[in-house]
Amino acid sequence: MRQIPDYSDRRSKSRCAYCGGAAETRDHVPSRVLLNEPFPENLPVVPACRACNESFSLHEQYLACLVAVVLAGDLDAVAAVSAKAARILDTTPALRAKIASARSGAPDRPHWAVELERVYIVLRKLAQGHIYYEIAEPRAFEPDSLWAAPLVAMDSASREQFERVESPNVWPEVGSRVMQRLLTSEDSRGDGWIVVQDGWYRFHVDWGGDIEVRVVLGEYLGGIVRWDA
Ligand SMILES: [Zn+2]
Repeated sequence: MRQIPDYSDRRSKSRCAYCGGAAETRDHVPSRVLLNEPFPENLPVVPACRACNESFSLHEQYLACLVAVVLAGDLDAVAAVSAKAARILDTTPALRAKIASARSGAPDRPHWAVELERVYIVLRKLAQGHIYYEIAEPRAFEPDSLWAAPLVAMDSASREQFERVESPNVWPEVGSRVMQRLLTSEDSRGDGWIVVQDGWYRFHVDWGGDIEVRVVLGEYLGGIVRWDA
């Protein structure tokens, strides 16, 4: 990705993107644990307080490994999907055991019990980071709604609706990154989605009226996080 300079209002720059408290660290959006190696260059970074920064990492590890295992279909095959997830699972027996026990169903048609609360924590964090970076209008508070589902579980109408993202008919703040993306169309597939890692991580920020962020991880999990206007 190209690191996009930020010419927007700098008043909020020292505040944590997630809680609004004093920022002591910087955090990648998305965190590298949610991506595969080699990592894209110039990942966006946002300010974060230490407490927030640390509070998300176990949940992000969980989600990264869960998605990789589900895509692999089996814990022992996960390295084929993500070497990083395989390493985490090798060195974190508790997480390995937790994900192993989440599996049920027939060997060729496994079901996975997902800890949705943890998925929501990560989705909210991702959305807050994307909003902070793209439109410089921090949402350091609870969203009004959170939704997540596997793309394959959506019926075709829902899937179409999820994939169809439209540019709002209001203009973003002059100088904001989303405005610059409109002008340069880099990192964009031309359909409104911004691709961080091809085939693995894409997102869209809708800033007209309600602020809504859509995220797709591993081309498997879709999420929508919304703050009402
Ligand atoms: Zn914080």
